[in-house]
Amino acid sequence: MMDEPTAWLREVWDADERSARAIDSASVILTIGDTVRGSIPPEDSKFRSLIDPTDLLARIDAERRILDVHRPVRVRSTGDLGEDFIERCSMCDQFPAQYPCSTVRLIAWGYRHRPGYREEWRP
Ligand SMILES: [Zn+2]
Repeated sequence: MMDEPTAWLREVWDADERSARAIDSASVILTIGDTVRGSIPPEDSKFRSLIDPTDLLARIDAERRILDVHRPVRVRSTGDLGEDFIERCSMCDQFPAQYPCSTVRLIAWGYRHRPGYREEWRP
């Protein structure tokens, strides 16, 4: 199990990307876990749009880029916690400083039903 939401999110996205790239554009196969549950014919655009691999890959790309911007940095502590250095977000200016920041926690929140999500990451 991953201790950091960023490492966990990147593993989730890697797995989702592999699944999306494996989808045959002619017939979308529905799976739950590793079990095939059915397929959606090409003419059924209403449901295809919900799981279009192109959309999924675009969302994964956007979320990876957000995570790249909201990366952890070590800074000298100015507080009374007795620590010389603390970790904070390179982008957010939260007080008290913390990492993961609210943005990273909110991204992870969208995947809270996936195996490995931890309550301590809750926004
Ligand atoms: Zn941030």
